[in-house]
Order: sequence, then C-alpha cells, then structure tokens
Amino acid sequence: MTQPVLIVGGGPAGLAAAAALASVGQESVLVDKETRLGGAPILSGYAKLVPSGEWAKDAIGAMVSGVEREPKIQRRLGCTVTRFDGEPGAFRATLSDGSLVDASAAILCTGFTHFDSINKPEWGFGAFPDVVTTTQVEQMISSGRGIACPSDGRKPERVAILLCVGSRDRQIGREWCSKICCTVSCNIAMEIREALPDCHVYIYYMDIRTFGLYETNYYWKSQEEFKVKYIKARIAEVTSDGHRLIVKGEDTLVKRPITIPFDMVVHAIGMDPNVDNGKLSSVFGIALQPQGFVGRANAYTTLGETSRAGVFVAGAATGPETIDDSIAQARAAAFAAYALARRAPVPAHAA
Ligand SMILES: Cc1cc2nc3c(=O)[nH]c(=O)nc-3n(C[C@H](O)[C@H](O)[C@H](O)COP(=O)(O)OP(=O)(O)OC[C@H]3O[C@@H](n4cnc5c(N)ncnc54)[C@H](O)[C@@H]3O)c2cc1C
Ligand code: SF4
Repeated sequence: MTQPVLIVGGGPAGLAAAAALASVGQESVLVDKETRLGGAPILSGYAKLVPSGEWAKDAIGAMVSGVEREPKIQRRLGCTVTRFDGEPGAFRATLSDGSLVDASAAILCTGFTHFDSINKPEWGFGAFPDVVTTTQVEQMISSGRGIACPSDGRKPERVAILLCVGSRDRQIGREWCSKICCTVSCNIAMEIREALPDCHVYIYYMDIRTFGLYETNYYWKSQEEFKVKYIKARIAEVTSDGHRLIVKGEDTLVKRPITIPFDMVVHAIGMDPNVDNGKLSSVFGIALQPQGFVGRANAYTTLGETSRAGVFVAGAATGPETIDDSIAQARAAAFAAYALARRAPVPAHAA
C-alpha cells in the first residue's frame, strides 16, 4: 500500500493525472475549489474543441465521468488547500474544510485565469454590450442559443474578431503569447460562417500563430473554404456610431488608417496566470515564474517538478497550454508522483 497522491485542480490536467494514477492502481485525492469538475472547458462552457472538433461537454465530460466512476480517486470539491507540510513521501495537506490529507506527493493542476477584457477598456468591452469575448461566443454556441448580438438578439451581419486581447501586450504587463487563441479564433470564425452564411467575418491580427498542422486545418481552411477575411492591423479603439460598432486602427500592410463598422466585436482573450498563484506559492512553498505562472524545474531531466521536491505541476498552471499538452504533462507528472509514492515508506499511522 502507498500513500495517495494529492492532485489540486480538476481540469483536463488534473483529470488526466488522476486517471493515469488509477490505471496503475495508485490512489489519489483530487481537490478542486469549484463544486464541478472539468476546468475551463466545462466551467466556461467551451463549444467544439480544437483540434479534435469534439464538443467540450462530450470530450472533457467523458474524462469527468471516468474520474467519477473510479474508486481509487477520492474527490474533494469546493475545497482548497490551506497548509501543506512535510517532505517527499510524507506530506500532510490541510483543506479549507478543516480535514487532513496525508499524501506521498502533490501535483498542481490549477490552470489559468481568463484575461478580463475590462483591462483593455479602449477596445469597448464593458462599454458596448455587443463587444464580447471568445468564451461568450463559445457559450452562445454550446448552449444552443446561437450567435446573436447581446444588445437586441439580432443575428450579426458583420463580426470582427480581435486577436491578442490580453496577450503580447507590454502596455498591460502581458508579454506572453497565449498560444491557442489564434486557432480557437479561426475555428470560431468558421463556426459563425457555418451558422450564419451571410455574415461577414473579419479577423484582425498582429501575426497569425496557428502553429504546426493548425496552419492547414484552421488558417488556410478558414480563408479558402469559409471566406473569412484577415486584416493585419494595429487597433486603436472600438467605439459606436449609435447604430453599429466601429473598429478604428491602422492596416499595417498598406500603412493606412481603417475604420470599419461591425454588429459584433469578439475579443480573443488570452490566458493569465491563475489569480490564486500567490496563495498557492506560499501554501506549497513553490517558486513562480516572473510572469506569475508556476515555475518548473529542469524541463529535460525531470517530469513536471517544481522548486519543491515532491510537488509537481502540469498544464496551464505552467503557462499558456493546449488541452493536449496539458494532458500529456499531467500524465508525465503522474508517472513521477507514482514513482515517488512507490519509493516512500508508509507512515505507521496510515499502514
Ligand atoms: C477561449 C479559450 C478557448 C480554448 N479552447 C481550447 C481548445 O479548443 N483546445 C485546446 O486544446 N485548448 C483550448 N483552450 C486552452 C484550455 O482552456 C487549456 O489548455 C486547459 O483548460 C488547461 O487545462 P488545465 O487542467 O491545466 O487548467 P484549467 O482548465 O484551468 O483547470 C484548472 C482547475 O483547477 C481548479 N483550481 C484553480 N485554482 C485552484 C485552487 N487554488 N484550489 C483548488 N482548485 C483550483 C479550477 O477550478 C479548475 O477546475 C482554450 C482557452 C481559451 C481561453
Ligand atoms: S495565439 Fe495568436 S491571438 Fe493568441 S496571443 Fe498568440 S498570436 Fe495572439
């Protein structure tokens, strides 16, 4: 018998880590501050995922059901960890409900926080109801309500998607690229064109980062098959003429000012460090990266180690990550935590 592994966060990474441990007979305790498992794709109501094209509720929902059926995974929802003492092989976590969990290792799968577009006020979010975020569009699609302007429910005839909102923006202290939002935006643009064939969809970009195979399946496909239009631009502001939204900026290819009216403007929001990272850093005694994401030890010779031995990290807690990569990292961290659990002597009180 080994001590369980503590997993904090039940999004794609945490679910994958728990399932991987259970598959080799290792018990785990999965803690999430929310009362529902699934992380961002479920809690924020994502629609069809890239690159699988599966609905988030089916793909991530299947991971949740697998974990819920598994007797080797104890779930502690609506809880956080308030203390974490001990050493590798013999940790003790105190949860916010006062209960104690003895664990051989911990894996932090605490993910990210969506950028709040209110922090980019000149681009109209909060001022105009028809300026929305990619998560809001995902929710319109996944709920079955369809694409509609929040102000009056009309079907938009013209939609602008603005990339890099809350990413690659030094002015607001966010230098990083959020990695997945170009691809997600191409996908959303195609979904809008499919649902509303008469709607014109424009993507305003600095650079397009549909990395790897996404270039063919999203960037080119959206232009060639779905007639999505791309404008390389610096956006100055989003205003309204009382009837339509007005996107003002500079077309950086022809170096001319452009002013184009739209019915709906979508912010492709980025991935911020989890707002809890300061607390997690002090509770678990782990270092953060300068940008605020959880730091990793050597990426080549260790599997998801943090600065504290026996505490591992996986997924978007470490920086912007895709679901696939979050899952892969979580399985690697689970392997490392399992190796540690097998080596550790079981304390007398738990044997
Ligand atoms: C608009 C948008 C669309 C996206 N679409 C895609 C897509 O189609 N395909 C794709 O590959 N990626 C997509 N992504 C990225 C995707 O959201 C992440 O890759 C994925 O959610 C990372 O999983 P995770 O488990 O690491 O973190 P999360 O999904 O953020 O899960 C973290 C979990 O930890 C819990 N938690 C947080 N803090 C604490 C705490 N202090 N104590 C306890 N629990 C805590 C949270 O409640 C949550 O359940 C998208 C991102 C955005 C912004
Ligand atoms: S993935 Fe694209 S939209 Fe997202 S931050 Fe990077 S360049 Fe900008």
